[in-house]
Amino acid sequence: MSSANALFVHHNDTLTYRFNDDHPFNQNRLKLTGDLLTQIGALRQEQIVLPRTAADEDLLHIHQPKYIEAVKALSEAEPAADWTRLAELFGLNTEETPYFAQMHEAAAAIVGGSLTAADAVMSGRCLHALHLGGGLHHALSGRAAGFCIYNDASIAIAHIRKRYGARVLYIDTDVHHGDGVQWSFYTDPDVCTYSIHETGKYLFPGTGFVHERGESDGYGTCFNIPLEPFTEDESWMQCFRETVVRVTSVFRPDVIVSQHGCDAHAYDPLSHQHCSMRIYAEMPAIIHELAHRFCGGRWIALGGGGYDIWRVVPRAWSLLWLEMNDDPLLRAIKENPLTPLPRPWLERWQQKTSLPLPATWLDDLTEWEAIPRRTEICNRNLRTIEIAMQDIP
Ligand SMILES: [Zn+2]
Ligand SMILES: [Zn+2]
Repeated sequence: MSSANALFVHHNDTLTYRFNDDHPFNQNRLKLTGDLLTQIGALRQEQIVLPRTAADEDLLHIHQPKYIEAVKALSEAEPAADWTRLAELFGLNTEETPYFAQMHEAAAAIVGGSLTAADAVMSGRCLHALHLGGGLHHALSGRAAGFCIYNDASIAIAHIRKRYGARVLYIDTDVHHGDGVQWSFYTDPDVCTYSIHETGKYLFPGTGFVHERGESDGYGTCFNIPLEPFTEDESWMQCFRETVVRVTSVFRPDVIVSQHGCDAHAYDPLSHQHCSMRIYAEMPAIIHELAHRFCGGRWIALGGGGYDIWRVVPRAWSLLWLEMNDDPLLRAIKENPLTPLPRPWLERWQQKTSLPLPATWLDDLTEWEAIPRRTEICNRNLRTIEIAMQDIP
């Protein structure tokens, strides 16, 4: 597949999606990633697409009119007291997701990016499209949650259903359960949602258990793989590979929409997983293969969580783009995990953080200690996937 088949959707307006200075959601990660890809010559100008903005009509695919009205009103520099009193009702005054000036514009720009990526693929303009600004999978129809205001993933999927009538498989690899997208399509048999994550017993949003299987006509088109805390690469990949391939073979989608939160990495401050960069090279490869095998290549990839913006996100998301382009550098990295990152990039960004940046594309696992309860964790995860897949041939 030639590299012209992948497009990179980006608008600088998505950088204005910003709660406050101390908030873990930090869009500088998009700059770090873009700079790394440019440095290695993997992102060409003609691959970059400026997205359209989302109209209210788009947002209404998923969100309630009253909620959109609240988001707009609370986006004012000084919102009216009538609205600030109601902020709690719409989930917009929590520590995680506080309202901020221009939040509607920033959140709508993100939705526009995911819609543009969806149209680029569905219209046949390209086979694969990446929108790293997207993947805000926790937003609910009438409520903000977990750093997410508008659910660009759900809106893009609803748009694909409406305009193209395609069957959509949503694959969510963020460490948090993709709850918002799951609930959006819980009764829809033409959208299958699959999420692999740390179990909701210990992590936000507290859902995503194996027994959540969809409802009414949608029963059997929802899959959850909740893994134990401190899961490592081997077990995470075994669980992902075995389940996602079976789900895709049975559901037979026309297009895959994937969410690539990279917060299951051991360095991530918000979860308790112990995975390395290896899973962020291997998971996209599996999704890519499935997109070609079942969907004629149609694949829309979105960003998501990722709170170690220095050591994890730029490498993980660059690996995803390399995969989408069949970039030869990826083969070199898989043959030699300690392939060095480009020195100018390291020098530029090391000045801006006190965290020592890793010097290589994948992690040097000889420096990592094994998790003492490894066998028990692996066995529990295997039992989980057995239950999650029990109705699948
Ligand atoms: Zn491809
Ligand atoms: Zn997350």
